[in-house]
Amino acid sequence: MNTFAGGPGGPSGPQGETANQRPLTAMLVATGTELALGRSLDTNCAFLADLLGSWGIRAARHVTIPDDPAEIARTVREAFAGYDVTVMTGGLGPTEDDWTRIAVARAFSCQLAYHPDIAEGIRERMREWGFPCPDNNLRQAWAPACAFVIPNPVGTAPAFAVRREGKCAVFLPGVPREAESLARTAVRDLVLGLRPGAPGAVRTFTVKAAGLGEGRVDELLRDILRGSVNPYVGLSAGMYETKVLVTVEAAGEEEAWDLAFPVLSEIEKRLGPHHAGSGEGGLRSAVAGRLREKGLRLGIIDSITAGVLARSLLEALPPECLAGAVSCPPGLRSLNAQNYLSAEGADLVMSLSSKSAPSPGKGPAADGKITVVTHIRDARPRIGAAWSRRRRAKGGDFFQITPVSGPPSHLNERVAALACFQLWSFLGDMG
Ligand code: ATP
Ligand code: MG
Repeated sequence: MNTFAGGPGGPSGPQGETANQRPLTAMLVATGTELALGRSLDTNCAFLADLLGSWGIRAARHVTIPDDPAEIARTVREAFAGYDVTVMTGGLGPTEDDWTRIAVARAFSCQLAYHPDIAEGIRERMREWGFPCPDNNLRQAWAPACAFVIPNPVGTAPAFAVRREGKCAVFLPGVPREAESLARTAVRDLVLGLRPGAPGAVRTFTVKAAGLGEGRVDELLRDILRGSVNPYVGLSAGMYETKVLVTVEAAGEEEAWDLAFPVLSEIEKRLGPHHAGSGEGGLRSAVAGRLREKGLRLGIIDSITAGVLARSLLEALPPECLAGAVSCPPGLRSLNAQNYLSAEGADLVMSLSSKSAPSPGKGPAADGKITVVTHIRDARPRIGAAWSRRRRAKGGDFFQITPVSGPPSHLNERVAALACFQLWSFLGDMG
């Protein structure tokens, strides 16, 4: 079944004239010593890669470097030599560690030029904000002479860009809000101007597999994955699900869809019952799909994930699929909560609690680590049959016990992901 119903057109369609044109490539650079040392995370490059992709420009490389002028100059030279588009963020501030202006002038062997109009703009903005304008801030009125300045309507640091030899390099402020705003406007005009014509599209479609390890998915799709170019097919292993990512480069939306469609359909077919939905959204949206399909309303009793499970499901589930969620202390995993959820119209109650001691006949307790007991109980007689089938098959009460090991960080997210996976399997087994 093809579930990419949102895509335009069918498997055949017009091929754009620029279908075989080489896509432009980009190298993205984040500067900042705090980023290079791992004290904060670069989010600008991910944002930029996605945005450039939506214009048909493939981000081929991301690099993070410290606030070091020699490193910045070397990286700019390398990026400009190897890629059509270079986008660098950071180092445009007014302080001693903001080297981008000087380093870029060095990389392109040019001087710095002073822009009195920019200086006046900075003074005026500081006046508006009610601050005196320190001389430091006027450093931002300098830019490499070979570059043209791009005004920054959302901050004080202007951006600048160099355009030559059919390529461009753009230097944006590091503050994400400013970088994003300038990328959507000035950068867009600049990079799309490199190759006039219809904007291209780099699109990634996602097919999800659940209940299979990454290795097994790899086996099932080996011939599709191996040597794939356009569409490029890759795997991304997650918690209890593996995403198959199909990336296409095309002249436009319609052609992207036409290229992807046959591959997506084949992947869905091979995954069979392990196909856990397609498109954006994780296993949670697959759970939502199954609940909706069966017309069931879910209730959640959760004493261990501090509300993470309910919150993540709330985002994915349409209101008609969720009867309610109860968070209660471990000891009170309770009949009261179940009664309450039944009264709220729950057809199915998933109860999450943790056990630290081994439970006879119910599997091993993880040594010193948390053990999750996911208890899915039918709240109404109409799905009782499925439940008792499970009970018999398990030879006892319907419990699933799975040790969740690893570092404590993200433990709640991991437990919530496990619970979603169990719920998804349970709903599948109900037939
Ligand atoms: P600007 O060029 O705007 O002055 P900067 O590098 O001089 O940038 P910083 O003082 O280093 O500015 O950073 C300003 C803020 O922007 C900080 O909160 C920093 O964490 C954030 N920031 C800078 N670069 C990035 C990045 N690549 N991804 C996410 N946040 C970033
Ligand atoms: Mg910085």
